[in-house]
Amino acid sequence: MSSIQSNTRTQNRSLQARRLPLADAGEQRLQLGNLALGRDFGAALTSEGLWPLRPTSVEVLQINVGKLCNQSCRHCHVDAGPDRTEVMSRETAMQCVDVLRRYVIPTVDITGGAPELNPEFRWLVEQCSSLGRHVIDRCNLTILESGPHRDLPKFFAEHRVELICSLPHYQSACTDVQRGDGVFEKSIRALRRLNEVGYGAGDSGLRLVLVTNPVGADLPAAQTCLEVEWKRELRRLHGITFDALYTITNMPISRYLEWLLETGNLEGYMRTLVESFNPQAAHGLMCRSTISVGWDGRLYDCDFNQMLDIPVSQNSAGHVRDFDLTALEARTIQTDRHCFGCTAGTGSSCNGNTA
Ligand code: SF4
Ligand code: SF4
Repeated sequence: MSSIQSNTRTQNRSLQARRLPLADAGEQRLQLGNLALGRDFGAALTSEGLWPLRPTSVEVLQINVGKLCNQSCRHCHVDAGPDRTEVMSRETAMQCVDVLRRYVIPTVDITGGAPELNPEFRWLVEQCSSLGRHVIDRCNLTILESGPHRDLPKFFAEHRVELICSLPHYQSACTDVQRGDGVFEKSIRALRRLNEVGYGAGDSGLRLVLVTNPVGADLPAAQTCLEVEWKRELRRLHGITFDALYTITNMPISRYLEWLLETGNLEGYMRTLVESFNPQAAHGLMCRSTISVGWDGRLYDCDFNQMLDIPVSQNSAGHVRDFDLTALEARTIQTDRHCFGCTAGTGSSCNGNTA
C-alpha cells in the first residue's frame, strides 16, 4: 500500500517523545539489516570499483544546527519537531566558523530542524557570509510566516543566502498530507514574500530552489520534467517563480521508516531502491564532497549517517573542534543499507539528482 490515504495521519510528536524503540538509531539499522535484500551496498559499490568509498574533496560543510522544528512532518528523517530541544550552541557554531577560517571550503549548507529557530542562526549566517562563503539555508517556508522570523526574507537577501525550500507539491492536498494541515497556504505566502524581495527571478543572484519528495513509497519522478511542470503551475496558480526544483528520494530512516513499517511497505520499498541501483549516481554521491556537523559538533559523512548515529571513520577527528581536513579527505566513508536511497534511479542528494 503506497497510497496517499495511508499517509493521512499527521504525526505531531517525534519518535523520541513517543518513546518508541524506533527512536533509537540502532533499532532503525536493525530493521533494515534484517531484510533479505540479496545485495548489500558494499557489494554494489565493489562492482563499480568504488569500494571502499572515498571522498573526492570537501566542497561543502553542512551544519545541522538542531532538531527543533515548528513542523513535525510525517516523513522527517531527522525526527525533528517542536518537542525536540537539541540545538547547536554558540561555542560549537564558533568552532564551525573557525574551520572555515582555516580551510577553503567554498559552501556552507545550514540545515536542521528548522535552522532559523536556533538563536545563533543569524550570527552563523553573518559569519559565514563575511568569510565569503556561499551560504545555503534549508528552509521549510512556514517558519518565515511566524512572528519573529517574518523579516528573514530581507535578511537572506542582504546576505545573498541561497534558499532550498521544501514544498512536496504545488497543490495543497499532497503538501498538507505530508507536512501538516495549513502548511501549503503558509508556504505559498512565504514564497510570495521571497519573490517580492527578489528571490527566484532567475538572474537576481538570489537563488530560490524548491525540493519535493514523494508522498508514498515510490521513487521521485524525473527532476527535469517535474521542474518544467512546477514552474508552469506555480506561476499559473499562484504567480510564484523559482529557479530550480530538486527531487529527493525518501530515506528509509526515522519517521519515514516508521511509516514504511506501519503500512507494510518497508521490504517492497527497499527492494525498489536496491533494484534501481544506478552506477552513475554512485559516482556522484554527496558524501564524497561533504562533511556534516551535528548540533553537538560531532562529524559525519552526511546528514543521514548523522541521524543513524554513524560517525566518520575512526582514523579522522570526530568533532568539529579537532577538524583536520587532510585526515578527513583520506577517510573511508561509512555506508549501510540506507545508502541505496542515494543511488536509486537518477540518484538523490541534498542537491537533488546525482546522475
Ligand atoms: S521534514 Fe523538515 S520541516 Fe518537516 S519536521 Fe523535519 S526538519 Fe521540520
Ligand atoms: S546515505 Fe550518506 S553515506 Fe550513504 S551514500 Fe548517501 S550520502 Fe553517502
